Amino acid sequence: MGKIVRSTNSGKGIEMLSFLIFNVVVLFTQAHDVSTKSETVLTNLDQARAVGGVILSQDVVTNLAVAYLTQLQLNQLSILNHSQGKCAGFERLTATEANQPGVILSNLATADLKIKTLSLAKKTILTWNEDFQKMADLANPNQLQETVAWISSYPSRYNKAPNPNQHVDDLKNRLQQWLQGAKWNFQIETIDHHSTKQKTLRVTIPGKSRPQEVIVMGGHFDSINQGYFSGDLSPGADDNASGSANLIEALKILKNSEQPERTWEFYWYAGEESGLLGSAEISKLAKEQSKNVIAVLQLDMTLFPGSGEHVVGLITDYTSPWLRDILTSINSTYVKARLVDDKCGYGCSDHASWHRQGYHAVTPFEATTSTMNHYIHTEKDVIDTRLSFLHSNSFTKYTVLFALVLGNSDMQPPVF
Ligand SMILES: [Zn+2]
Repeated sequence: MGKIVRSTNSGKGIEMLSFLIFNVVVLFTQAHDVSTKSETVLTNLDQARAVGGVILSQDVVTNLAVAYLTQLQLNQLSILNHSQGKCAGFERLTATEANQPGVILSNLATADLKIKTLSLAKKTILTWNEDFQKMADLANPNQLQETVAWISSYPSRYNKAPNPNQHVDDLKNRLQQWLQGAKWNFQIETIDHHSTKQKTLRVTIPGKSRPQEVIVMGGHFDSINQGYFSGDLSPGADDNASGSANLIEALKILKNSEQPERTWEFYWYAGEESGLLGSAEISKLAKEQSKNVIAVLQLDMTLFPGSGEHVVGLITDYTSPWLRDILTSINSTYVKARLVDDKCGYGCSDHASWHRQGYHAVTPFEATTSTMNHYIHTEKDVIDTRLSFLHSNSFTKYTVLFALVLGNSDMQPPVF
């Protein structure tokens, strides 16, 4: 299936040729200078072309490509994506994946097609729950501001910086304190990665009756300054101290709730800005271990009300219609913001990693992508009057409600 199946013999010839060129280039660069180390990424076809990447495989139906890019081209790709309202915009592939580019694209095309044809038997109608409303209304914009101020006070959270884990270790220690006295047991751990020295942080609250069913809530904890050179100032207040803080504030609220029926897992992912590095490894391992992840919520940039206060962008591509429906019902039942559908292309944040592994993911965004915060990936992404903590506070509520509603229900995702 996908472009590979439909491609003619000449298609196979082109793929073999680009594979040969790929290996010749690899040999050449490795013989010279590792700093120009190139990478194989999954990204949008037109952008890979725009930066002059070596296209290893392409699918014009989904407009996706597996491409081989130099660091300079990767930098250009990131700037291009950023100018089009995306955070990352590409996923870095492993060497094994890079050797079978056609398979990557056809699997993604299959998942995407099935999602598109996924028709919901019926719309989700949630019954209003007073306790859930009370919990959600504990979300406090002033506390949220304090947490964003702390996270964005690190000069850089870049995954390739000399000390890429200071903020990760500090959050681990703070969460240990903040969650003291919780009504449930919890485990805090850091996860090492192959693709980056930066670690992902995970908090696990085991489920009471169905611990094998997992609800994931996450956001990336790294930051970047477009220059790619470590040491550059990258406070990343909106991208993504905001989403990281929404998750922290939600956990502080949920510590007063009963142990959930299903397991909650909270993630602060590493290396999103360099190609979804942490979430790609974690979601791939989950798939390999047949982990029963029921639903994934991704928060990435929640502070800039570019489309108006309480107007929230709901990303429709590479996300689940089933979960979008549930989030829409959570919003209309408890939060009452205005949701606006929008697209952001492949790899615009960590939800894409889970989606590619066949899991149901959803991501509400601070605004539509054309009206998003354009100070991201620069030293100007700091707390200023353009940002609204009242606006971002709704995302803390979404997280609390996502955990309570899905963590205590027997709702099952439709099978892909
Ligand atoms: Zn981001």
